[in-house]
Amino acid sequence: MAVLLLCLGTFTSRHAFAWGQPHLAITKGALETLPTWQRQLLGSEFDLLAAKHCMIPDNVYSDKANAKYAAMESSPGEVYLQKLHLPQAEQVVNLESLRYFMQKAVDSIKAGHIGDAARFMGTICHVIEDFGSPSHTVPGDNQFTLLQQFMPPTPVMEGKLLHGPIENGDFAVSIAGYQPRLLGTTVEEASWRLLHRVHEGIINARSATVPIMQALYADDAVTVEKHQLRAATKDAQVVADAMHTILCLGAGKFETAAKEKCERTGIFTFWPVEAVHLYYPQSHFFSAPFWGHASSNGVMEGGVKAVPIRLRVADKGGVVEKAFASGISTGMGKALTFHLPKGVYHRFTAIAGLQAGIGDKGRVEFIVLGDGKPLANAVVNGTDAAHAFECDVSAVSLLQLNAISRGLDPKSNYAVWAEPELIK
Ligand SMILES: [Zn+2]
Repeated sequence: MAVLLLCLGTFTSRHAFAWGQPHLAITKGALETLPTWQRQLLGSEFDLLAAKHCMIPDNVYSDKANAKYAAMESSPGEVYLQKLHLPQAEQVVNLESLRYFMQKAVDSIKAGHIGDAARFMGTICHVIEDFGSPSHTVPGDNQFTLLQQFMPPTPVMEGKLLHGPIENGDFAVSIAGYQPRLLGTTVEEASWRLLHRVHEGIINARSATVPIMQALYADDAVTVEKHQLRAATKDAQVVADAMHTILCLGAGKFETAAKEKCERTGIFTFWPVEAVHLYYPQSHFFSAPFWGHASSNGVMEGGVKAVPIRLRVADKGGVVEKAFASGISTGMGKALTFHLPKGVYHRFTAIAGLQAGIGDKGRVEFIVLGDGKPLANAVVNGTDAAHAFECDVSAVSLLQLNAISRGLDPKSNYAVWAEPELIK
């Protein structure tokens, strides 16, 4: 979490310890959920991971012997990599950081070099924890100077930089009872799914930032810690998933049920690349059938009221209305683009149609593109049954979903991609 500390290099080592404490606590809480065989595999590195290795990216100048475990070949000569502390705008950059260190850790386990593996794992812990820190939540405003214009400080915080106060703490993290998830059976798959878990951590941390600032202003340390812990708890779960998965990959050991769960992945809550920094920019708003942006697992009726997804579907020679729990709804002409991991999934499926009740008079062309080339398309009228897409995405690295108005009533052109899934 000490991104500024190292950039400025003006803090004392006492400060450095304070900044680091949540890293240690989160990592420790996460590791406690690992099964016995994974603890044994780590051996004496198990305790060091939480006590020391998770700080490697912050200590690259003082702990020169371990700096190589937080360096990347793609950034030659760079000792301190800011991208390991602050989420970058480009999803691919964040994905590559996770993929690179996960690969290094897995290769080290396979080679029997557990000390190296644990240090690379420490770097991944640090990245997850920093990205999910309540003080790393506003893109490009690491000290909350803009946010303080919206929330002018009370005398108690006047003139103080907020990064440290927002994340500094001294607490224990427990996620006892949490079952770490297997994120994939290859590094490509696991790092890609880890990125989406990390996104959940970022969104969760954002929900803690303002309450923490308010509590700091009120000089209310108890409430500060309550919200810090909320962020730290989510981070510990994501760290647990990552560590568990790396050890499974390194040992080549997977539980059958966990492996089966990886066969298909719904992408309905995944952030498309258009939502840079994980929110829809104004350029991605549509104006018909109302002002809005794409949303997950529901439809905004009239732009104001969330209602479940309902599509017409073919049934026994007729057409019936059916509710869907998962899907992405969107207006016209705003593409949704998703990165796919290389060589992992073979098919993309979705049921695409117009939201029943809103889209009855509309006509929409649904187009699926793979790396810019058309994979499938279908024109669906508001009264038609939704179209079941099934596309081969074996060689695709960018999947794009498009919905385009094809006339009739633009106020009815509200498109839904229900149950969008990638299948191995
Ligand atoms: Zn950091």
